[in-house]
Parts: sequence; structure tokens; C-alpha cells
Amino acid sequence: MADSQHQSIPTHPIAPRVKEHQKKPHVGPDILGYRDHHGKTFGEGSNEWWAPIVSPTDRPRDSTGIVRSRLFVLVASRMETSSGSPKVASTPHTTALTDGLIPTPIRFAFLPSYYPSVDQRFSFGDHGVGQCRQSQRPEPLYTIPPPLHSTTFCHEITNFNRPQSSTKPMNRAKAAKSPPLSFSANYGIKKGDTVSVYMPMTWHAVATFLACARIGAIHSVVFAGFSSESLRDRIKDCKSRVLITSDESRRGGKAIATKAIVDAALKECPEVEHVLVQRRTGNTVAWTEGRDKWWHEETLKVPNYCPPEVMSSEDPLFILYTSGSTGKPKGVVHTTAGYLLGAALTVKYVFDVHPEDKFACMADVGWITGHTYIVYGPLLNGVTTTVFESTPVYPTPSRYWQVVEKHQITHFYTAPTAIRLLRRLGEHHTQAHDLSTVRVLGSVGEPINPEAWDWYNEHVGKRQCAIVDTWWQTETGSIMITPFPGAIETKPGSATVPFFGIEPVILDPVSGEVLEGNSVEGILCIRNPWPSIARTVWKDNNRYLDTYMRPYPGFFYTGDGAARDEHGYIWIKGRVDDVINVSGHRLSTAEIESALILHRGVAETAVIGVSDDLTGQTVYAFVTLKPEFTYNPNDEGSLAKELILQVRKVIGPFAAPKKIIIVPDLPKTRSGKIMRRIMRKISAGEGDQLGDLSTLADPSVVDAIKAKVATSP
Ligand code: ATP
Ligand code: MG
Repeated sequence: MADSQHQSIPTHPIAPRVKEHQKKPHVGPDILGYRDHHGKTFGEGSNEWWAPIVSPTDRPRDSTGIVRSRLFVLVASRMETSSGSPKVASTPHTTALTDGLIPTPIRFAFLPSYYPSVDQRFSFGDHGVGQCRQSQRPEPLYTIPPPLHSTTFCHEITNFNRPQSSTKPMNRAKAAKSPPLSFSANYGIKKGDTVSVYMPMTWHAVATFLACARIGAIHSVVFAGFSSESLRDRIKDCKSRVLITSDESRRGGKAIATKAIVDAALKECPEVEHVLVQRRTGNTVAWTEGRDKWWHEETLKVPNYCPPEVMSSEDPLFILYTSGSTGKPKGVVHTTAGYLLGAALTVKYVFDVHPEDKFACMADVGWITGHTYIVYGPLLNGVTTTVFESTPVYPTPSRYWQVVEKHQITHFYTAPTAIRLLRRLGEHHTQAHDLSTVRVLGSVGEPINPEAWDWYNEHVGKRQCAIVDTWWQTETGSIMITPFPGAIETKPGSATVPFFGIEPVILDPVSGEVLEGNSVEGILCIRNPWPSIARTVWKDNNRYLDTYMRPYPGFFYTGDGAARDEHGYIWIKGRVDDVINVSGHRLSTAEIESALILHRGVAETAVIGVSDDLTGQTVYAFVTLKPEFTYNPNDEGSLAKELILQVRKVIGPFAAPKKIIIVPDLPKTRSGKIMRRIMRKISAGEGDQLGDLSTLADPSVVDAIKAKVATSP
């Protein structure tokens, strides 16, 4: 195993700011028990995961008459892969958890005091396996009333002329009077129908999720940066009759013609009968009479109270299409109980949330990270969540830090691509802002290079915060491998240990055998199901089985490579398709990229394998540079030599790239993930067979790369 990254001991002990909070009460649901890595069960129940159960009879109201939301879930899941399909034995009924939606869609609270009390202490064994000891306490663990919760909105700074109502979050008194969104009665949407959503990052998007959940409609949220073709395909795939959108959106100082994109998509979707349009900028947009309706007018027509639909735990909550880094996106289906349980518990334990916390996940609601960590997870725990519009660099690269300071954010969660971008633009942008409220910093989406991790720790966390590098997927619904702040010491670049109940295994890629013990590397799979596992691909269960269940029978196949180091810590090595094999050495892209980024001039890199007669494969590295780094563009050869030397030094001569290609930008998905397959195709001379590019953020990057590859020596 190439283990140059694996340090011999965890290097980052418990963060000081997290330590201070350890004894304070938490919010959110408790786990009654779970099964550990060795099959041993803790808590009640037998071989299954158990989630909190509360009686659905009593629905407390607060002094304003608002019905409090509660999570009624009991998940007992067991995967039977012998029949090819996972069977999930579940409880008969789960009530949708959206009571808090009334009367304002953004108020959402969670009443934890009904849970039987469980005192949990965590310790971790040598395989990085969570162990939980429980002791019943005589009195309830939570006696404090849940505070009222709000959503924070960070609108793009703009002089745009738009109506007052859409520029400011509603104040509570005003919000309490305004009616909730309900489209069930008027539009004929009932439990089990799909509703497509194509909305920018305003509170209305969050309200839309909760409104759908409340009436039992299955939402299919499409990232509002997608083209009309991508939107059309997704609407057609899930056959929605209702679409919710906005007139326009704002991103990076530009207006995006959201409604016009919708109109283009709907030309080929006659099945869409109603389009509900939220006014974001107030500019004039084309209107189809009879089909298009304004949000602010429609919400005046519906009553203040909309009873929540009773849902079965296995009823779908939403469909979400994957990022498409590896090919055509899949419409992943998540369920009401299991998904929500995963969302609630991971926010509680991975982020160590407390009642007054303010959670800020900077993803877009159109991705799974936004679904779980902007909308459902924080709100289930009753903590404030943040909806951030625009980009981290508009109008300045201090934008994130202005938001943290202004809203006193305690939890900040973003992707390595954003961290690398901000690192590239310099740490002075973090310095003018008070970031002292932050306790936990999260990373998700790609392997985080240790260099970027250190920058995040040093310049954002000021070495006071816990950093949680969280590995999970659209298909897993919630975080799977992660450190626990206050319990797990970290190593930069390692996602560390599994979450409760998760049993990751590392398989030999050829034999498919489980590689036991430490210091092993191979294919990452999951042995048993967990509550928030995706149940199917929408209307294509066979694709679900082919993609996840059949590659290594008996296991859920993640498509990622991973290593378990000598301490049982897990290191995600990137996608299995991206693994490079040079003269029998299996090289991970993540490792070579992390070596390259150590060079003072390098901003970001993407490494690929290209076939080679002599060695099987050889390494090509695509590199972008920091803006302030100066070099002679007529002599890229000298810089390339320096970079090759860097890899030889850090990993070894066998990993040295054969070619270094300096490019202005890397091809990325709209969620910021590097699409290595594009560079692989171009380098193999198959630039005309790039496949599905609908999820590519900036298509012009492809031509720049083609030109550079064609001229590179
Ligand atoms: P598609 O499945 O359509 O190719 P995608 O895999 O990019 O799209 P997502 O579900 O958004 O869609 O991404 C999950 C993937 O992101 C993981 O399989 C993994 O490759 C990567 N990933 C997520 N978090 C981490 C992390 N903390 N460390 C390393 N890789 C991560
Ligand atoms: Mg994937």
C-alpha cells in the first residue's frame, strides 16, 4: 500500500472550542441503540438499528399556537441481497415530520424531550469502530423547551431592483401572519405525486421542500444552474405535473433567466400543468396564462393550516439525481423515515450541535448536501440553518467570512473545491473577520488534500475548531465516514472512522474478498444497510441493482477506493474508475494530487492515467496555478520538471507524472467535482466521444484543455 500520506499518529487532537461545549446539552434525537462492527447490538432491539420512538398522539403547541414538529421514526432495516434487492423491514407508520411548517413554512422545531433518556459515551477501538455505552437515567435528558428556530438568509449583495418582500427574511411577527404554501388542494397534488423544483437559493426553496414533505409529495429538486435540456430530462424522468421555480436568480453578480430556462424545458414537457413562480428579482418574464402562477398570489388563497400527511416509513420523501461525475445521473430515491433519521443523527453527532447553534452548509439545495445539511438535518435538530446565495468570491473572496461574522455561524460546511479556490486567492480575505464563533468546520464532496485541510484549519479555524472530513454520497443520504468532534483525533486528508451502525469494508478489487485488519487498500463497500440508504433508482430498479448491489454481491458498492491505515483510519482514495496502474503499482489520484498541491505555485490539480505500451498506464497531471505565481509561459518545461520532482520526493519515482499540462481551469461538475473522465478521453485522442456533459459547469474549459493537450510536447 502506498501510505506516504498516512501519518503514524493522529496529529490533530480535540479542538479547544469543541471541548468547551462537550458538557452542554445537545439537541436532537437520541439513538436507542445500534449494532457495531462485530455484530454486537447495543441498546434495545436485536439485530437492527433503532431510532427514537415517540407517541404520535400528543402534539404540543407552543404559546403562539404553533404545532411542534417531531420525528416519529422507527427504522429496522435489514438488507437481503440474495434476492438481489434490499428488503427493508420497517415499522408500519411514520408521521411526516413537518408539523412545524405551520403557519410559516420556515419555522420548524423539534421536540426532543419525549425521548427515553440515554447517556452515551463514545470510545473507539483499534479498527476505528464506534462503541457506545448506555445507561438509563431516571429523568429525561432534555428538559429545556426547544427554542424557536429561524433560517438565516445570506442574499447576494446587489443593487438589483426587486420587491422588498423578496430581499429580506421575514420577521417573525410578519411571518406568523403570512399563510403557508399549499399547492395540494389547488393543483391536485396528493401523496406520492412528484413535484419538480428549480429554484435559486432563497428561503422559498427550503419552504418548498417542507411543503412537499408535509403533503406527502415527492420532491425532485434540480440544481438551478442546469440547462433547459437537463431540467427537461429530469422532469420527464419523474413525470411531474407541477414545477416550482423563480422569475430569475442571481449568481456572481449576474442575473440568470431561470423562468426562461424553465419555459424552454417545458416546451417538451406537456405533462406539466402548473408552474408556481417565486418573485426573486421582479423583472418582467414571459408568462403562459393558465399554467404560470405567482407564488405570492397563490399563497394568499390557501388556508393557514394544512394537516400533515401520514406517511409510511418507506414512502419516498424525494428523488435526487446524482452529480453525474462518472456518467448519466441517476434518480436516487430516499425514504421518509430512514433518510430523515440519518439526516437528524448525523447533524447531531457529526457536528455536535447545541440549541443556540447556527449551522451554515454552503452547498446548493439542488445537491444531496443541501438536502441533508441545509434543509432536513439542521431543522430536525431545531438549530438555525443558513441559506447562502451566490458564490464564495462575489463580490469579494471574503463573502463567506462576512456571513460567518454577521450571523455568528457556529458550524461551517463546504467542499474542498471551495477551500482550494479560497486558498488560491490568499488568506488575507479571512483575516479581517471575526470567525471566533465557529466550532466545527466540515468538508465534503471530494478527498481534501492535506495542504487544503491545513489551510482551512489554520486560517479559518485558527486551530481552535474541529474539522470533520465527511465521506458520503447521494446514495447514502447522510454522512457515513467522519470524525466526531470531541471524540476522534484527526489526520488531515483522512475521513477517519465510520458513523454509528455503518460497516465499511475494503475489498480486494480482483477477488472481491474482504481485506481484514489494518494497513489495507482496495474497493470501499458497505456491509449492511443503514437507515438512509437509497432504496432504488426512480423507475429503474435494475439500474440500482446493477450499479450498487451486483458489482460485489452481498455489499453496497460505493465506486470509491479506500485504504485503512495502521490506526484503522479510513482514507478515501478517489473513484475506482480513476485509479491508475503503473507497472503494477496502484496509484490513487488523490495522493498524487496532494503531492502536487504542496508546490507553492499550484492551485488545483487533476491526475489521470493514460495507457502506455511499456508500463500499462502512465500519469498525466493537469495543473492550475495561483494567480500571483509568476513563471515563464514560454518555458513550461522548467515548471513541469519542478512539479515532477515534487511527486518523486513526496511519493516516489514510480508515481512521477509523465506529462504536466498547465491549464487555465479544470472541468468540473456544477457541484464542483473534478470530472477526470473528460481529461482521460481528451488525452486518449477521444475528445469527440466525451459522453454526457450536461453536468459540466463551464463547457469552454473543454476546448481550452483540448487545445493545450494538442500542443503539449
Ligand atoms: P455520479 O455518481 O453520478 O458519478 P457523484 O458521485 O459525483 O456523481 P455525489 O453523490 O454527489 O455524486 O458524490 C459522491 C462522491 O463524492 C463519493 O462517491 C466520493 O467519490 C466523493 N466524496 C464525497 N465526500 C468525500 C470525502 N469526504 N472524501 C473523498 N471523497 C468524497
Ligand atoms: Mg457517485
